[in-house]
Order: sequence, then C-alpha cells, then structure tokens
Amino acid sequence: MLFSDIPGQQKIKQQLIGTVNDERISHAQMLLGPEGSGKLALAIAYAQYINCHNRTDDDACGYCPSCVKYNKLIHPDLHFVYPVAVTQKVDKKPTSEQFLTEWRQTLANTHYHPSLMQWYEAIGIEKKQGIINADDCNNIIHTLNYKSYESDYKVMIIWMVERLFHSAAPKLLKILEEPPDRTLFILVAENHEQIINTIISRTQIVKIPKYSDEAVAGYLQQQFGKEGNERNKMINLANGNLKEAIEMASTTGVDDFNFTTFREWMRLCYKGDYKALYNFVSKISKIGREKQKSFLNYGLKIVRHSLLNHYGKHELIRMDGEELQFLQKFSNFIHSGNAAEFADLFNEVSYHIERNGNASVLFMDASIRANKIMAMKPKQITT
Ligand SMILES: [Zn+2]
Repeated sequence: MLFSDIPGQQKIKQQLIGTVNDERISHAQMLLGPEGSGKLALAIAYAQYINCHNRTDDDACGYCPSCVKYNKLIHPDLHFVYPVAVTQKVDKKPTSEQFLTEWRQTLANTHYHPSLMQWYEAIGIEKKQGIINADDCNNIIHTLNYKSYESDYKVMIIWMVERLFHSAAPKLLKILEEPPDRTLFILVAENHEQIINTIISRTQIVKIPKYSDEAVAGYLQQQFGKEGNERNKMINLANGNLKEAIEMASTTGVDDFNFTTFREWMRLCYKGDYKALYNFVSKISKIGREKQKSFLNYGLKIVRHSLLNHYGKHELIRMDGEELQFLQKFSNFIHSGNAAEFADLFNEVSYHIERNGNASVLFMDASIRANKIMAMKPKQITT
C-alpha cells in the first residue's frame, strides 16, 4: 500500500512522513478516525514507507524487496492483530494468525477499507462480537521478541483496539511500556471512549478526519470510472466514508433502500397503522445487523437534516429529488420539542442491535415510540 493509493488526506500523510524524515518515529501510535477514513490503509502505507529501501520524500518506491512483500502483505516483519472469535473453522483458542488468509482477502476485497461488520462476515461470525484476546497478546510478545528478520522495524498493527478484551489489556500495556527494540506499534481505532485510558496514554494519537468529497470523487473516478450524476449521488451518500463509496461503486450501486424504507416506516408510524407496522417490522428484522445499523444511521441523518431544513440551512443539505421532497415534508414533524427524542430512539435501537438484541422486538417498540414522538408539541420558549 503506497500513500499514493490513498486519496486525499494530504495533511496526515505529510505528518506521518515527517516523523520518518525527522527520525522521530514514536514506537506506539494510535490512528484514530471514523469508519471509512482510511486509517488502516494509512497505517500500512506508513509501515511500508518506513521499511522501504528506496523511499522518496513523499512515498515508498513500491518495487524494492521490502515493498514487494508489503504489497502482498506477506512481509515477515509486518504483523496484524484484529478481533476474532470461535468459528466453524477455528473451534477453540482463536488467534489472529489463524485468520490471516481471510484478513488478506478482506483487505483486498474492501480496498483496505474494511468495516468491523465486513470483517465479521468474512470469518462467519456476524452474529457474534469478535475480541482481541489474551492468546493474541501473548503471541505479540512472542513474535516481537524474535530478532528482526530483514527490516529496520518490526511492525505490529492492531486493528480495532476498542475490541481488546479486558483480561488481555494488561499484557498489551506491558509490552507498550517495555517494547522490544526497533518495534513499532500502530493501533487503529474508531471510538476512543471505548478504549481504556491507560492504553491511550501510552500512545501518540494521530487523529484521522473523514475523507473530503474531492478525495472520494477522485477515487470513484479512478478506481471505478464513475462520473456525473451517479458519482455525485455516491459522494453525497458516502459523506466522507470511503468504505461506503467503495461498497456502492463495487456492489450495491446507488442504494436508495434506506431512503425508501425509512419513508415507508415513518408514514406507517405517523398513521399508527400497527397491522402494517407488524409486517414492516418482520421484513426489517431479517435484513441483518449491518444493514439495520446503517438504516438507523440514516434515520439520524434525516433528523439532523430536518433541523437544518427547519432553520433555513439549505446549503448544508446533501440531498436531491424525491429524497429532498420527503425531507421537506418530514421536517414539519421534527422540532425543538422532539428532535432529541428521535435521535435517542435511533441511537438506542442501534446500540441494542449491535449487542444482538431481538430486532423485531426493538423495531416494534421503536415504531410505537416514533408514533408518540411525532405527536409531541414544540417546546414553548419562555423568557
Ligand atoms: Zn520500496
């Protein structure tokens, strides 16, 4: 992975390259950014750059012996740890090493922008939660205590460190405190609230912002030949999440599932048509966790955009056509008195879906609450 394979993010690339040129590479860094912001791709490009035999001022060469192995993710001094669980294939003591083939495949399939759910699907655990376990942390110590094979730095990339199991944390902490010589830890994470403070305090944090629209646009054109209206729609929907853009461009196309489904749901909730809602709920409870979460996220986006519409901030609204028409009508039901209730509702359902809550119960309950929330009155502002 070269820096030039990653669109945009110029500031971050310069910052990372600067640490190499100024010889101030910190041994433990955490790349922290939202889903689809390229943090894993940047971590790999950074490691490749550090170990390239022929690097230039702005990128690795791509063809020296180190780069050739990095390109295929088979360099003996490049190690990965990621959340795993017991699967059909690995029925006890799962560790990252046992899933290396699936890992390389997933990175290739997702252009190095995997989501946690895509990873779980790839190893067949979409109904469970993966963890970074104590066995894996023992392996880290074991792996890194060998002499460096052939490169300047051994690199350990720990992906989604918020999934570190509590009993494994002391082991990782210890090695971050007393790292073997010439080793580099790159932790990659999305939610810094979910990571224990002692880990955070031992790393240098590099905050990765979401991609700019220009970066997403360039990538869609170069990698997928997307142009014009279709590309504009994808850029709007992705909203800086390149993982979403890649998914749309490579598989689903511009997907209006969330929009049409949300519109249907809100119409039924408004009417309080519980018989139709029952049918709706049985449909939506079967689409899988990732799609349900993306659907609820869309609901949050509609609430946010309704407020923008309400307060005349039309230039910030990233919608057009039928979707915009729906927003204009729906925003009449969203106001100071209920926007927070709506946002809480979608967040709560998403929280429980993520933790394997029963989707039909959650969506039916949410439908009843949505019906009540829509009937709420705006707050009276008293002075
Ligand atoms: Zn090279």
